[in-house]
Amino acid sequence: MKDYSGVWVYAEHDGNAISRSTLEIMGKGRELASRLGVELSVVLFGYGVSDLVETLIEYGADNVYVSDDERLKYYKTLNYAKLLTELIRRHRPEIVLFAASYKGRDLAPRVAASLRTGLTANCIDLDIGDFEDREKGERFEKILYQIVPAYGGNVVATIITPYHRPQIATVRPGNFQVPEKFPGKGKVFQINFGSEDWDDDVEVLEVERDEEDSKLEKARVIVGVGVGARGSEGVKILKRLAEALGGTLGATRPVVDAGLLPHECMIGETGKVVRPELYLACGISGAAHHMIGVRGAKVIIAINKDPKSPICEAADYIVIGDIFEVVPKLLEKLGKHGDAL
Ligand SMILES: Cc1cc2nc3c(=O)[nH]c(=O)nc-3n(C[C@H](O)[C@H](O)[C@H](O)COP(=O)(O)OP(=O)(O)OC[C@H]3O[C@@H](n4cnc5c(N)ncnc54)[C@H](O)[C@@H]3O)c2cc1C
Repeated sequence: MKDYSGVWVYAEHDGNAISRSTLEIMGKGRELASRLGVELSVVLFGYGVSDLVETLIEYGADNVYVSDDERLKYYKTLNYAKLLTELIRRHRPEIVLFAASYKGRDLAPRVAASLRTGLTANCIDLDIGDFEDREKGERFEKILYQIVPAYGGNVVATIITPYHRPQIATVRPGNFQVPEKFPGKGKVFQINFGSEDWDDDVEVLEVERDEEDSKLEKARVIVGVGVGARGSEGVKILKRLAEALGGTLGATRPVVDAGLLPHECMIGETGKVVRPELYLACGISGAAHHMIGVRGAKVIIAINKDPKSPICEAADYIVIGDIFEVVPKLLEKLGKHGDAL
């Protein structure tokens, strides 16, 4: 394992900007690299992406490996996985981090499988520590602790990859803050792949952007819809509240499972992690599976008719009452839409 060194982050972007989740992971990657005394490197694939290199350096990349190639214009799973695997084989980083986004979740397992190493998906934290394998009499220093909720969120497990390299993890977007800029003297390496490295037999016919999908992660105010909303009538009222507050709707899993709101709205262990200024939990009990997604919220206000609901312990402010009575009054006070109810 001694010839593996460095922390790598796979950079996601939309062609114009580096994704927020990449910057979040870079902040953590920087911290891990400093503790290990190694460099932070970022891999950037795409077409016309050279302008984005500057951002990566501003946020602390010591090295940026860029492949700016027309054939990389669209994300294609097999092609990207093959090229990234090849790059990792060449440079042998000890840690490789991906966002647990659609792309990251697609790419990371293929790369890990090709490299015959492990992968911990959906980490909520990362750390560095030691491990002693008493059975085998081996001791490992400064390995990656990959921290994930397990057993339905009831325990938090620390997973390690002592016998294989690189140690690969996907990290849930929204878990870490975007770091302060940390400008250094990042080096840029242009990567040219040989023709044998490409696996480019997919033709992209059309691309449609889903703007809605990132709305929740960016929202400053989120109105969370729980089972207490009792169906579409409740969703309508809460949507008006979200609009009145200049926010957007999130939801618990049963609400999404019931088809009341789309999957993109789901917050929690199997949904999204959000960090709004205000999370207004309406008719939500506060199950651990859900709360894990809102622990980064600055202020949580709960509207719930049961004072014994666990959300009442977790919230900063609690309104004990029926949402069908409280929310219309709130809308009236906010001076918007109240008359439409
Ligand atoms: C492996 C696994 C993963 C999961 N992942 C997720 C996840 O990612 N996200 C998620 O959200 N859940 C997830 N769940 C489900 C989770 O455990 C809870 O079941 C779910 O979060 C509960 O949703 P809820 O709070 O809307 O409903 P409930 O627990 O039924 O709570 C409804 C609340 O509404 C209140 N209420 C009822 N009527 C009113 C009213 N008129 N006015 C005010 N209050 C009212 C009640 O007092 C109650 O507190 C997962 C479960 C498992 C097993």
